[in-house]
Amino acid sequence: MDKSRFNPHYLKATNPLIFAIAQKGSSIDGLRSELSGLVHQMEFNATQDVTHRDVASLARVRDCAQVLKNMLKKRADDLAGFSMVQAIWDIGTNTPRPDLGPAFYAELLYLLRGLEGQGPRKAFENVHLSGISQLKGRPASIERSAQLDDLGAEINRWLPRYPYGLHKEAVKRRKGRRDKILKVLGASLKEWQDWHWQIKHIVRDVESLDRLVQLTAQQKQAVTKACQNRLPFGITPYYLSLMDEELSDRDASVRAQVLPPMDYVMRLSAVQDRSSLDFMREEDTSPFDLITRRYPAICILKPFNTCPQICVYCQRNWEIDEAMDSKAFAGMDQIEAAIKWIGDHPAIHEVLITGGDPVAMEDATLLDILEKVAAIPTVERIRIGTRTPVTIPMRITPELADIVGRFRELGKREVCVVTHVQHPYEITPDMVTAINQFRMRGIPVYNQLVYTFYISKRFAAVALRRYLRLIGIESYYTFNTKGKEETLTYRVPLARLMQEQQEEARLMPGIVRSDEAVINLPRLGKHYLKLREQRDLLSILRDGSRVYEFLSWEKNISENTPTYVYTDVPILDYLERLEQVGETVSDYETVWYYF
Ligand code: SF4
Repeated sequence: MDKSRFNPHYLKATNPLIFAIAQKGSSIDGLRSELSGLVHQMEFNATQDVTHRDVASLARVRDCAQVLKNMLKKRADDLAGFSMVQAIWDIGTNTPRPDLGPAFYAELLYLLRGLEGQGPRKAFENVHLSGISQLKGRPASIERSAQLDDLGAEINRWLPRYPYGLHKEAVKRRKGRRDKILKVLGASLKEWQDWHWQIKHIVRDVESLDRLVQLTAQQKQAVTKACQNRLPFGITPYYLSLMDEELSDRDASVRAQVLPPMDYVMRLSAVQDRSSLDFMREEDTSPFDLITRRYPAICILKPFNTCPQICVYCQRNWEIDEAMDSKAFAGMDQIEAAIKWIGDHPAIHEVLITGGDPVAMEDATLLDILEKVAAIPTVERIRIGTRTPVTIPMRITPELADIVGRFRELGKREVCVVTHVQHPYEITPDMVTAINQFRMRGIPVYNQLVYTFYISKRFAAVALRRYLRLIGIESYYTFNTKGKEETLTYRVPLARLMQEQQEEARLMPGIVRSDEAVINLPRLGKHYLKLREQRDLLSILRDGSRVYEFLSWEKNISENTPTYVYTDVPILDYLERLEQVGETVSDYETVWYYF
């Protein structure tokens, strides 16, 4: 990527008017007002040209003007702790600002180009869709259909890049891996299919891991240090069989789920008080032990505080100690008290039983809990959150599916399963069998995807949604990675998820792109990214991080609702990382214009 443009000299040369005004500024507030006036005037001028037919360009002017005017406000300075007006003034007057990095200049450069209706125009250079045709009727339809074929070909060009676990070669590869693991562990195929055996053989240290899978030197070092510092770590033998024998990029997303990167290990090891990692401030939304409540009709019940394996970026890494921790079960007394609390709150119609992973409990325990929750007359939906179809699919036995299905009562109570598949390469015949156990009993299965770096390449999430649909899983939410500092390796700028929704997901049939893109915020809960009016881009910090202010979902329902100021990861850093893994940055360039 050519970063030579991202400096003050280039910025000034390409936008002389703004910086000429800045040069003459005499006070911050005076300049604030003058710059706002100029931005307003530029937007106004763009719309005065009645022959201007390029609506996309006008929309870009409108969007950039709105963002810039926001950034020039005093309120933005106060909330972001950074003054864009001061930065523009300093650049205009050649005052050294060594604190401003290339990612900051890149943001400003794209914004100012956008204000003039410039910047990258099309997501896919090879596709030539013309919105306006001179033709009418069938000839117009034929022309349009040919253009859509081009667009379809573009999509098809991307999709095969993502390995799919149901491809013949992948299935064969995994069988080989399974047999190798079984040989090392001296176990039989029958034992492999027994979920208790899988749990008993969770890999918890680097020596065992090293015997079962080839690791890079960095992976080995990071796992060693994680174990030395007693960070939560564990992988089921089944999930290890999804990792390739040879080192390649193909299984990067699988490895990233469970092998902590060194920067994560270092950050987490330095943390004294693990509760400081509670980004979602669950402690502030827990009105009763084991309960979390953020919305009127739904609550979360957490009876089991661990999982068969630990996802590195887990939101609950502050309270999960180790995989299948023997102390993780809350105990029936506490669970019954929590269920009674739910019964005392008739506004709650839906109970999400999650954890940890409640399906990693024994059948009898899960049955007991389900019976008690189902006995609450006001509960009309029980949702079970589990990643076992991915981590240990043999757990989904016919007996377990019968237990879950028993509480489904048409017209009275719905039971559904929400799982967490992160990549098409995680899909296997075993997972298909597990999902089918639920589906055969009329239990819908939904997916919640966390939009990490490893699923963020162009059309990767589209591939996942498409394959999930084919195995009976409906996409439900796509979560932006939260602002958890320690998970930096996984984080993707919000703008990329918005771009994915509009330029990729939008091209799929509605029944495939059934998910909602959200960011989960402390106290506020889910913010729907499609709602532009519920957030403002406040500023761009020195390192190019965008600062957003999110409004509450209840802003038009309640008074004095809180807002949340969120600092994102810099777009330029993200693009550089994509380039390092072989992506062409220009394929993503419109990302700068998602706010
Ligand atoms: S399955 Fe869910 S709760 Fe368990 S480690 Fe992964 S993200 Fe955390």
